[in-house]
Amino acid sequence: MNSLETLADVASQVRVCEKCTLHFSRKNAVPGEGPSDAEIMFIGEGPGFYENEQGRPFVGQAGKFLEELLAEIGMKREQVFIANVVKCRPPGNRDPLPEELAACNGYLDRQIEAINPCIVVTLGRFSMAKFLPNTRISEIHGHPVWVNQRLIVPMFHPAAALHQPSLKATVIADFKRLPEAIEMARRGGHKKIEDSPAVPEEQTPDEPAEQLSLF
Ligand code: SF4
Repeated sequence: MNSLETLADVASQVRVCEKCTLHFSRKNAVPGEGPSDAEIMFIGEGPGFYENEQGRPFVGQAGKFLEELLAEIGMKREQVFIANVVKCRPPGNRDPLPEELAACNGYLDRQIEAINPCIVVTLGRFSMAKFLPNTRISEIHGHPVWVNQRLIVPMFHPAAALHQPSLKATVIADFKRLPEAIEMARRGGHKKIEDSPAVPEEQTPDEPAEQLSLF
């Protein structure tokens, strides 16, 4: 199965999934969308009201803000893959429960493996915790970290910035540094960029989960 076929297979399974109780209240599951060879993957928390209505990720106000943030760094949402840690809307936008995260985790793992992005931007604490457990987003937001030879950039969820205006400037500032992290990921010898120069010793991607002083 190639990456496109794998993503289609995941999406078809997600749309009829009954592995956790979130399927009882969902209108549409939201598998995620984007190119199968995306360099960058954004991973949020879970579908909200509009996502549940449309079956697409980040289509509400937070999605609009995400598109504005991408435009600020010269990117379009069509260039990135956007997914969530849970594919069905938690009722009332509550936090996903541990058993829901565990039940849905395999779908996201298959998506990451198929796309093999050189950089993953986590949006919010639940997606951050998948890659960087026992960390606090308030302490590491915006700082790229190598995890299993992939660069992870934890960021606040755009919705959090919309609900807490004081966070908005932080999210915008973190996003503006993203091109530097992308360049670091490219230089990190990820398999998609085979002709890149060698990585400086102090920035080797083989060091697990070490926070780098890029910013
Ligand atoms: S949230 Fe994930 S595991 Fe739960 S029903 Fe939806 S697709 Fe299945």
